[in-house]
Amino acid sequence: MSFSKTFISAMATIAITACSSHSVKEETPADFDYTVDRFSDIEVLRYKVPGFEELTPQQRLYIYYLTEAAIAGRDILWDQNGRYNLAIRDLIENVYANYSGDREDKNFKALELYLKQIEFANGIHHHYSADKFQPAFDKEWFEAQAAALPQPLAAEQFAVLMPVIFDPSVMPKRVNQAAGQDLIVTSANNLYGPGVTQAEVENYYNAIKDTTDLTPVSWGLNARVVKNNGKIEEQVYKVDGLYSPAISRIVSLLEKASEYAENDTQKAIIAKLVEFYRTGDLKAFDDYSIAWVEDTASRVDFINGFIESYGDPLGMTGSWESIVNFKNEEASQRTETIAGNAKWFEEHSPVDPRFRKEDVKGVSAKVINAAILAGDAYPATPIGINLPNANWIRAAHGSKSVTIENITDAYDKANHGNGFNEEFVIDEPTAKLIDDYLFITDNLHTDLHECLGHASGRLLPGVDPDALKAHGSTLEETRADLFALYYLADPKLLELGLLDNPEAYKAEYYKFLLNGLMTQLVRIEPGKDIEEAHMRNRQLISKWVLEKGAPDKVVELVKKDGKTFVQVNDYAKLRDLFGQLLGEIQRIKSEGDYEAGARLVEDYAVKVDPELHREVLDRYANLDIAPYRGFVNPVYTPVTDKDGNITDVTVSYEEEFLPQVMRYSKEYRTLPSNY
Ligand code: ZN
Repeated sequence: MSFSKTFISAMATIAITACSSHSVKEETPADFDYTVDRFSDIEVLRYKVPGFEELTPQQRLYIYYLTEAAIAGRDILWDQNGRYNLAIRDLIENVYANYSGDREDKNFKALELYLKQIEFANGIHHHYSADKFQPAFDKEWFEAQAAALPQPLAAEQFAVLMPVIFDPSVMPKRVNQAAGQDLIVTSANNLYGPGVTQAEVENYYNAIKDTTDLTPVSWGLNARVVKNNGKIEEQVYKVDGLYSPAISRIVSLLEKASEYAENDTQKAIIAKLVEFYRTGDLKAFDDYSIAWVEDTASRVDFINGFIESYGDPLGMTGSWESIVNFKNEEASQRTETIAGNAKWFEEHSPVDPRFRKEDVKGVSAKVINAAILAGDAYPATPIGINLPNANWIRAAHGSKSVTIENITDAYDKANHGNGFNEEFVIDEPTAKLIDDYLFITDNLHTDLHECLGHASGRLLPGVDPDALKAHGSTLEETRADLFALYYLADPKLLELGLLDNPEAYKAEYYKFLLNGLMTQLVRIEPGKDIEEAHMRNRQLISKWVLEKGAPDKVVELVKKDGKTFVQVNDYAKLRDLFGQLLGEIQRIKSEGDYEAGARLVEDYAVKVDPELHREVLDRYANLDIAPYRGFVNPVYTPVTDKDGNITDVTVSYEEEFLPQVMRYSKEYRTLPSNY
């Protein structure tokens, strides 16, 4: 199961004009333009890396090699996302780069759009909906362009790719979550080989899994499962295994980085990660994870590996990703306060005491600035991370939780005056509350969700951590969000000095319900269900409190001038409802009650009211705000002395989106294309 990311919600595009004094902000020059590109449903932003210049040259060099090791894994994710992704990327980039005709031509424009879409999604399926992109250029035009390339593809290769690009019925969905279907056969990702069925994979792992093992490895995390002469087997991602050229390059860059590590702890962590990459041994990955989670003292930190399993319909295989970061010392005081009081929060949580954690261990929390985003974290990126994912490691060794402040700050800066508040927030006083308190309460929500929510509670002895199966991710996100929502309204936050107004939480409560009931629907196409775990979680919570609070009119959907608005009548009762649902979700998780969990998801999280959906889409379309955002990375340039030795690194922010991804394709090409 994977449950460790917090994504910015559609509502985070809300305009925030006043920032609380609690948030630490860097001054940014007025001419720094946050928006880099805008196409389809996407806006690409850039982010600053405040504090990079204040690091030591050694720290900057350490970061530099880690960022190189991050980008070096790019092709792995592309190949994991789809068997033909790298081949199609080659072809589309080649046609684009060699085109010499009219750049205003409608076919060329459509090609450019398609190129941007696949570059943003790391493949031919939308990064969020997982639906295949449908190109708008003519097939015949494209065939002529491809045939005129200096080195055109062989006819057989071209013939393989054409239907994958153009035929909507071929590989339509990267990850299919529809209940009742074979989730592996119907998912187009490349985590499983041709002909492998869901039942075969489940049987394979059930046979290996020892249910009495209290420290189980994360089965399937680093392997593609294939059928070989009718026999199911794993192709392990490792040096000399699957993805060897990419992993070897990552390993050599990690070893180079190690020379500049801040301390021996970091060197030991890198050595363990390298061992994992060399052997593919999942036990080595656990050893690495333990060493990593226990290092809370180093300034510079990074993730590099097969981490989150959202891309696998069975939630086992990790998508490759990397984020390199360093601690934002001032802002970290906020999360340290929360983490330092973890025991108090656990003891007061509104769940059956049997399901509480007896001994809340090592919930470390900090605020970081990202230095690079890569793999599954690029260009779309989370704003919070909580790792490692293995339940027993979290229980025995704690987890590390971060909020990525330079990313939330870039979102915030890019949001000014987009008209969202005016369109969707019910009245002036609520809009004012949001203006004043959403930035801080949103950040606190992320902190509470990551540092405490995911880390709270425990399974009853003998309960399978994967008992909730396909609903595990959704219910885990629900649990973490409810924990955050419940405590956002607690006077404890004022006592701890994290908020200065007992009404502040209402800003986040309103935003959460507005998002869960209405505005997140902008990410869903008409007629489709909600599939992504975080979105399901938000709708589950919002619809549940709407229904359960109906007798007391706690929350209502009301009409004003023909438009629908969320109206919260009783915030105190709303908090009670959040607490009640938290109690139930924790019970479901602790007891492994699959039936009850599945019912909650199916009753509240999946279906969309088509009429309200249409209305939200129409109102949103008028605002012309991109529902999805992502980032270009800064560019790090080594400084060399007269003998050519690298002595320092500088950072710059000028690179645009397409030039960046096409440079990455060239400079960080590691894997061959499949045809
Ligand atoms: Zn989460």
